[in-house]
This record gives sequence, C-alpha cells and structure tokens, in this order.
Amino acid sequence: MDGGSALAEDLKAENVRLRSQLAYLIEQAEHNHEIMCRHQAFDLEIVGSSGFPELVSTIFRTLPVISELDAVTLSLIDVDADIHTVMNKLGVDFDAFPNLIFVDSEAALPFARAPGAVPKPMLGPYDSEAHADLFPNPPPGMESVALVPLLRNRRLIGSLNLGSVHLARFTEAMGTDFVEHMGSIIAICLENTISNEMLKYIGLTDSLTGVYNRRYIDRRLLEEIARARRQSYRMSCMYIDLDHFKHVNDSVGHQGGDEVLREVAGRIKDELRLSDALGRFGGEEFVVLLIDADLDSATHVGHRIRNSVASAPVTLANGYKVPVTVSIGVATLSDFDRESPIEAAAQQLLARADAALYRAKESGRNRVVSLD
Ligand code: GH3
Ligand code: MG
Ligand code: MG
Repeated sequence: MDGGSALAEDLKAENVRLRSQLAYLIEQAEHNHEIMCRHQAFDLEIVGSSGFPELVSTIFRTLPVISELDAVTLSLIDVDADIHTVMNKLGVDFDAFPNLIFVDSEAALPFARAPGAVPKPMLGPYDSEAHADLFPNPPPGMESVALVPLLRNRRLIGSLNLGSVHLARFTEAMGTDFVEHMGSIIAICLENTISNEMLKYIGLTDSLTGVYNRRYIDRRLLEEIARARRQSYRMSCMYIDLDHFKHVNDSVGHQGGDEVLREVAGRIKDELRLSDALGRFGGEEFVVLLIDADLDSATHVGHRIRNSVASAPVTLANGYKVPVTVSIGVATLSDFDRESPIEAAAQQLLARADAALYRAKESGRNRVVSLD
C-alpha cells in the first residue's frame, strides 16, 4: 500500500467516526429538545393553573410523568398555619394531596446554610431515615433524591422533593441548573396562587369575626335560590341582631363590644350545619342562610341560637362578664317566589326575615319570630 491510499483509508475511518459522533450528538440534541418541550408544556400548564388545588394537583400529576420520577412531594413552610387554615376554609380537600406537607419552620427542611446564604438543591442517595418527613409514602426501591429549595426573593418558602428508583438519577456531582429552574417556576406559581387565595378569602370574610361578609352572603343567596329552585328543596334565612348593643358598648367600651361580637358569632356558628352560611351584615347584625331547611327547622335552629347566646354571659379578656341576648327573625323561600326573578326573590326573603326580626324586637327582644 502506498502512502496516498493509506492516507485515504485514514480519512475514511476518520469520516466514519465523525459521522457516528455527529449522529450521536443529533440524537442527544433531539432527546434534550424533547425533554425541554415537555418541560415547557409543564411550565405553561402550572403558570395557567387557576387556583391552589389545581396547581398542586398539576405538579403531582404531571411532573412524575414528564421527568420520569418515582416520587414527587412538596413541603410548604406555613408558620402560623395561615395557609392551611385559609385553604381549608375555601374548601381545599387536603386528603386528596397526601404528598403535600406543611411544616412550621425553615428548620424542618433539610437546607442547612450559613446565615444570609441562599440554599442550594441537594442531590444524592435516598436515606429512608433522614428523608422520612419529606417522603411520607416513598415508593419501594427508592434510591436517589433531589431536594430543591423553593425560593422567592431569596426567602425559602418550601421544598420540592423528587425521588427516583435509580441510584444514578441524582448524584452530588450533577449540575443543578435544571432542577433550580423547575424550582423557581414552581415557587413563583405557588406564591401567586397562595396570595390570590388569601385575597379571595379576605374579600369574602369579615375581619372582626372571621365569618362571611355581606358581599359573600348576597352572592351566595342568589346561587342558593337558583339551586333550591332547580332541586326543589326549601331554604330559609335568619336575621340576628344583638339586643341593646349600644348599652354593651357604653358599659364595656367599643373594644369590649368587639369581643362580645366575636363570641356571639362563634356561638351562632356552633349551632349551624356545615352547609349553612353565616355572615355579618353590618354592626351587630348577622344573617344565616339555611340550606335545605323549611320554616320549622330553621325556627328550631333559631331557638337553639337564642338559647346559647342567653344561657351564659360573655367573659371578656379582662374577666368582666357581659350578659347578652339576641333577637331573631326567620323566613323561608316560598313557592310563590318560584316565578319571580332570583334577585327579587332574594330581596323579598331578606325583607321578610328583617320584618320578622322587627317583630321580635317589638315584642320584647330575646326571642325568635318566624314569618310564613
Ligand atoms: P336593639 O336591641 O334595638 O337592636 O338595640 P341596639 O342598641 O342594638 O340598637 P342599634 O342597632 O341601633 O345599635 C347598634 C349599635 O352597635 C350601635 C353601634 O355603636 C354598635 N356597633 C356597630 N358596629 C359595631 C362594631 O363593629 N363594634 C362595636 N363594638 N359596636 C358596634
Ligand atoms: Mg341591636
Ligand atoms: Mg342593629
């Protein structure tokens, strides 16, 4: 073989090697592109979630599939259990999210760090003892984990915990750009939905007593009348007004009066069913919507409330005992209302309960009057 053909052979071999390398790189690029597309779709889906339950269920449902993970859990820092309480009041069913974990402080998360430093993701082997709180239901054979801090403005709000049955899936030596990106998108979405849900809650509730406000009850009343008509059940309404509340304020001050209002709201609530809605309509006036209750059963509830308020004085923080009574007017949605527009029926129902309350006041207070 002369020198020329040896060179040609070398070039050919080189060419084959380069081609196969190129094919490998293209394959890798396509694979990466596909992963990126799946993740972009995931980002879009979570950014578009309309509320906390939808966001959390999207994370738990989609992330294991697109990232080929065997466990995904989420730990959220909830210092005074505010998030949990508000979500609960808004009807979030936490039983549906066994992998959503609330912790009361940063110390409950695994990110040890120097003061002021931003925590970094921790990748490595799974340790069933050390990671027990982060993975309450670990899949059999879990081998490696990525614990990703969820950060908002350098503040730790929780941790995204990923698990795999493959030991090589998450190792200390691995780059963390990818999981950090995932963590930052999830953290933004979580913070936004949590603030939105908090705002929603604040907009519907009365800050003094924690019961619903008038705006909520007005809207709910329309929904309930529509439903009562559709499903042919009774619904009733109750107006409750504290008796001689001016005297209460005069004798114990406005703050003492506020304490009384809070306690009375609590006593009313204790007599209601979960399906009933209690709202503060203004000053010392409350309205209750009783779902699937006719006049008799609503009146019965009214008597229980009157009795519970009158049976023992309210004890203020300073130990002072304040006797309180309420007057109650009850009315029920009549069949006659069936034909009228919902708004008119709602107004009429409230007006009848108010008229019944007026009679209760007139006839001596501390009593229940119902109007057919
Ligand atoms: P009645 O038995 O006829 O209902 O007598 P009343 O004194 O309760 O009468 P009225 O409804 O006219 O007075 C309500 C009082 O409730 C007046 C107001 O000072 C007081 N009030 C209204 N809002 C609040 C509040 O948020 N906190 C406190 N402490 N008092 C309030
Ligand atoms: Mg009053
Ligand atoms: Mg009043």
